Amino acid sequence: MAVGLLLDLEHQQGKPVPTLSMRKQPSFSYPDTSTSLEARVAYFSMEIAIEPEMNTYSGGLGVLAGDTLRAAADLGVPLVAVTLAHRRGYFRQLLSPDGVQTEVEQPWQVDAFTTPEAPLVWVEIEGRQVAVRALRHDIRGVTGHVVPVFLLDTDVPENAAADRTLTDRLYGGDTDYRLRQEIVLGIGGARLLLALGLEPEVFHMNEGHAALLTVALVGRTLAGRTFALAGPDDFARVREQCVFTTHTPVPAGHDRFSMEQARRILGADTTDMLERAGGAHEGMLNMTYVALRFSRFVNGVAMQHGIVSQAMFPGYQIDAITNGVHAGTWASKPFLELFDKHLPRWRRDNVTLRYAIDIPEVEIVKAHREAKQLLVDAVMDRTGETLKTDVFTIGFARRAATYKRMDLLFTDAERLVAIAKKFGGLQVLYAGKAHPADEPGKSKIHRVIELAHELSGGLLKILYIENYEWKLGGLLTSGVDLWLNTPKRPYEASGTSGMKAALNGVPSLSILDGWWIEGWIEGVTGWAIADLEEEAHEAESLYTQLDEVILPLYQDDKEQWQRVMRSSIALNGSFFNTQRMVEQYALNAYFPQELATEDLETLASASH
Ligand SMILES: *Cc1c(COP(=O)(O)O)cnc(C)c1O
Repeated sequence: MAVGLLLDLEHQQGKPVPTLSMRKQPSFSYPDTSTSLEARVAYFSMEIAIEPEMNTYSGGLGVLAGDTLRAAADLGVPLVAVTLAHRRGYFRQLLSPDGVQTEVEQPWQVDAFTTPEAPLVWVEIEGRQVAVRALRHDIRGVTGHVVPVFLLDTDVPENAAADRTLTDRLYGGDTDYRLRQEIVLGIGGARLLLALGLEPEVFHMNEGHAALLTVALVGRTLAGRTFALAGPDDFARVREQCVFTTHTPVPAGHDRFSMEQARRILGADTTDMLERAGGAHEGMLNMTYVALRFSRFVNGVAMQHGIVSQAMFPGYQIDAITNGVHAGTWASKPFLELFDKHLPRWRRDNVTLRYAIDIPEVEIVKAHREAKQLLVDAVMDRTGETLKTDVFTIGFARRAATYKRMDLLFTDAERLVAIAKKFGGLQVLYAGKAHPADEPGKSKIHRVIELAHELSGGLLKILYIENYEWKLGGLLTSGVDLWLNTPKRPYEASGTSGMKAALNGVPSLSILDGWWIEGWIEGVTGWAIADLEEEAHEAESLYTQLDEVILPLYQDDKEQWQRVMRSSIALNGSFFNTQRMVEQYALNAYFPQELATEDLETLASASH
């Protein structure tokens, strides 16, 4: 495949990657080898789920970023990543018995997981010079290729006390704090890569948070001229280097700052330059517009999200590259072993999962039973509650944003109870955090927990499990029997938890939104909830699917149920992974020119 030609091939020829892969120690004890790195692509993201013990992510965006880097490492893509250290993490969620969320800081062991890099760079914030350094953590792929992550840190003695806390809290503080963080991420990050001797050809902004990297690139293009002189030619030069992925059609998900705020924090010259370049919208500095103006390739994260984004931003060409999950990360242990046994090359070549269609159903059922047991044990550990492995179990876990409608399942509580009775039992597991400032989200959680108490007992058991994070996500998506998703269309840009479920043989019941539009084959990979005007009608469709299709199938037609499990893996696990996704980024976003030439040469030589 053409994409392989432009990836780092050294490891595939049996030679170790020089210096980096020679390292046998954990990532915190190696010499500074950054100058030997090849960094053709720089990937910038405000959050990245790097390791479960590193609290540097909040949810879907960060998990996707981490899965992207893990796939890039597997494929040998010459890529480096930039994020912030987030020394105090996002937050650990505590839930009172009656369902009130409180938040606790989650500092993590920065020194145990990262190594400081030598260079210090400076960014201007509110007229002050703030020092930024990088802490490095390496992600190693299945073939040994390393993708380094540079976690930016302002907690250095050169800085005043307040500035030392700028890289502490992910999505914490007010909008001033956020803008300062975005200066560190974008401008600080781009300068740091140069200070490390890296010269990426492509800068990938994962969401608008990273848009200020374009300021550093404009500055570089100006080569000493002042920002006041920056014009269309300079902007065009920066545009050639940038790629932008937008992640949500929800307006609140697009960062905006008042022009006053921008002038004060970012400086008048920089703000004026961004305004001239087209980065202001409706009287505010809008990070999505900054990123759009400065990018030669822009994409949404699923087919429908590309179309919705195109309508939101007419005048820009917006493509779609559908998200995925890192298969080696999200397959549960029993399925890792099953895939290793039947599809030995699957970790290097995820397409091989397509041949899961040849794995005997009994082995899939056995692996799933083990995954369910792991979940039941973990729930016992975390809550003291006993679940039954032989009772049909539904999972619902995601950020408690209102459009996700976590209470849709309770629209007609009596019907839910009746279904549980009719089929001899039903277990429903919930999890999800609400952003500390998201009061409507918090009251959704409260409502679900209240209803869980009210309705549980007898044959229906509903549990809300505290503190949804990486490990719990893995246990839930692999251990339940059905993955439920009820967003209000078209607000779910992609969604990835259903992809994790599919990889583990767990079918979805979902509104046809985000990725499910592409992954859904009725009765083969799961089931659709009708997308209707009225919420009550959508809930009706959900109950009818459970009552008349899904539970009867589970109970009375084991063979067909097992085929659904298997086709979830074969059809959806083989496509909705970040290996396919990163290949699409390489082909379409990062190196389109090169591939065009490559392909032409191949064609030309074939025709001789
Ligand atoms: C996968 C994952 C998400 C994203 O799931 P969505 O379906 O996009 O909501 C969020 N949080 C955690 C902990 C995850 O593992």
